[in-house]
Amino acid sequence: MVSAFRTTVLTLVFLSLGASLASSQDSFTVQRAALIEDIERVVRQTRSATGRSALAEAVMAAMGKVPRHEFVPETVRQFSYDNRPLPIGDGQTISQPYIVALMTDLAEVGPESVVLEIGTGSGYQAAVLAEIVEHVYTIEIVEPLGLRAASTLDRSGYDNVTVRVGDGYQGWPEFAPFDAILVTAAPERIPQPLIDQLAVGGKLVVPVGAENRTQSLQVLDKAPDGSTRVSDILPVVFVPFTRSENQEPAP
Ligand code: SAH
Repeated sequence: MVSAFRTTVLTLVFLSLGASLASSQDSFTVQRAALIEDIERVVRQTRSATGRSALAEAVMAAMGKVPRHEFVPETVRQFSYDNRPLPIGDGQTISQPYIVALMTDLAEVGPESVVLEIGTGSGYQAAVLAEIVEHVYTIEIVEPLGLRAASTLDRSGYDNVTVRVGDGYQGWPEFAPFDAILVTAAPERIPQPLIDQLAVGGKLVVPVGAENRTQSLQVLDKAPDGSTRVSDILPVVFVPFTRSENQEPAP
């Protein structure tokens, strides 16, 4: 009798635990759908700067799929689907979802693209890219962040992302050329090794500018003759692109 009672109590505890987990998942799904609408609204608002009144369907589908709440620290999880940057520890931030969507769109990637990202951070931008492309190589300079991102990506089933801890200034020559390169920290000038590792016809998307100043989100295109052209898209604010101590200073 006692043991039957205990079983019932335990079952009830497990049932309600399961139910509350399921309802927080459902609420994240609802919040993510609302975020998608908000991104669409901001895209329309910024149309005159970006030249886009809507982003590619594949980009919005990826934004609708990636569980951003898995990539942010527990302490800010409740804000996962707000359209704003959030702290991820070590003084770094996960970018605003609208900016992640815009940068992914500007990269003009498809199922066969191989992409390099500098600034893994939480791994969220890498996951959004991984939903669309063949493979993502991503480099993070802050070791604990890189290790955490690698484990989040692994746990979330993104097996087409390779994370490396190191200074991304030199790119990743072993896997170059890349169909697109996204830089998610702001250098004062675009690192030449990244330009060299961009495939012909590829896009390099990068916020350029000094720390504590408004930076400009730029897209560099490489023409078949190897010449490059830079377009300014939008004023943005990113964390600075840093260098490891044993490297030459940033340009
Ligand atoms: N893409 C990230 C945003 C991270 S913020 C996300 O989706 O969460 C930018 C990141 O760039 C920070 O984690 C910072 O540590 C990293 N970073 C700055 N300079 C770097 C460099 N030279 N090489 C690699 N990563 C760098």
